[in-house]
Amino acid sequence: MELFFETLTGLREKLATKKVSPTEVLDALKKRVEAVEPSIRAFNHIDWETARAEAAALTPEDLAKPLGGVPVAIKDVMAVKGQPLTCSSRILKGFVSPYDACVIEKLRAAGAIPLGRANMDEFAMGSSTENSADGPTHNPWDTGRIPGGSSGGSAACVSADEAIVALGSDTGGSIRQPAALCGCVGLKPTYGRVSRYGLVAFASSLDQIGPLSKTVEDSARILQVIAGHDARDNTSAAEPVPDYLSGLNQGVKGLKLGVPKEYFIHGIDPEVEKIIRDAIQHLSDLGAEIVDISLPHTNYALASYYIVAPAEASANLARFDGVRYGARVKDGKDVIDTYCRTREKGFGSEVKRRIILGTYVLSSGYYDAYYLRAQKVRTLIRRDFSEAFGKCDAILTPTTPTPAFKIGEKTEDPMQMYLADVFTIAVNMAGICGLSLPCGFAAQGKHGRLPVGLQIIGKAFDEATLLRVGQAYEQSTEWRKERPACA
Ligand code: GLN
Repeated sequence: MELFFETLTGLREKLATKKVSPTEVLDALKKRVEAVEPSIRAFNHIDWETARAEAAALTPEDLAKPLGGVPVAIKDVMAVKGQPLTCSSRILKGFVSPYDACVIEKLRAAGAIPLGRANMDEFAMGSSTENSADGPTHNPWDTGRIPGGSSGGSAACVSADEAIVALGSDTGGSIRQPAALCGCVGLKPTYGRVSRYGLVAFASSLDQIGPLSKTVEDSARILQVIAGHDARDNTSAAEPVPDYLSGLNQGVKGLKLGVPKEYFIHGIDPEVEKIIRDAIQHLSDLGAEIVDISLPHTNYALASYYIVAPAEASANLARFDGVRYGARVKDGKDVIDTYCRTREKGFGSEVKRRIILGTYVLSSGYYDAYYLRAQKVRTLIRRDFSEAFGKCDAILTPTTPTPAFKIGEKTEDPMQMYLADVFTIAVNMAGICGLSLPCGFAAQGKHGRLPVGLQIIGKAFDEATLLRVGQAYEQSTEWRKERPACA
């Protein structure tokens, strides 16, 4: 088997026993990237030379570490010292990170090599990776379709075996939704579980970094390394990090899994619904007890998210004015003119829409009617989940209402695009954790096969249960063995 087809767990075994060297792994990935990248376009940039030098410098002690010699693709929104950081935006063209994000420090300390800048929707705003100044990424299962977003590059590169594993960020679904549409595993940890230091902020009360991988165990291994308190992020949690691998194979017997009626709504693709219901039945056959639950405020999650997230974004993006970061127009008449024209030229239309929306809902006279009310709804959503978790250990839902749609299909209609996240957003609003994993294929698309994802939602800081349920499902089914058409 070619090395690039390896999982993280499989590759580690080979590296630890010296069957392969880290530079051989990089050479294999380079070959793969050269073969498929022209049709996938998952990366904005890859610095092979630096990665190779880092791989060659790894000592035998480094190779004994949990991620020793493993290249990890990084969404172009996290700082890697000396590498470009663009957030797929024109405004950050030419910007080079002066330091490593906390997650990158942790990856390096575990022996990993950050490799490549994965494409994304500009500033992580979007659900299809079409809002990228670098052009869209293509879905490896059907290159005429979107890979999901905003971490579309991270999902596509893992799915197309251009990367062993990747990091993404999830503000409203941006890890889970592309993972579902590309047929890989994606984990959004609990808010505060992973430090946001060195992650370019979109909506600071919602953003969280997490892994995209080929298997559940691989996500557990990455989470183990990146989780934990960091004094440089005020919202980072002091909660101890459990051993995510030790409980992985406990199975689902004795677990209660809730199925919320509000997630099987009008608008869900009938094939997706059938596949999810089959997955739920499968977990029941494995010994889980399936219970009906209700999350009554689900309907308001999308609307309140699209007030809270743009409000925070409008404040966070104020720092991009051409003075401290990236590009600046040369012919500004004065300082205000320079700010305005830099932002006008530098930001794409979705980013501008969010800034205008966010500024509006925060403005005096509208604050109470929109922002404050959305925050109240957020409390109700959080309460729904706490009540539900009184009846079950984890919750099962579809990750997305439909499989991957065609490139260009929703770009003219922001509302249709926003609906792609209808099942993932509430998890961010509640600050809890969610995992998406492959659970079947819809007979749609160019090759008659488009991946569908099952979402498992967990209590705050209970990623271990998500991984346990995910592992039980994954290891008793064959979906993880399927490869996309581009393979
Ligand atoms: N698609 C959602 C948005 O556009 C979520 C994005 C994300 O999670 N970063 O805001």
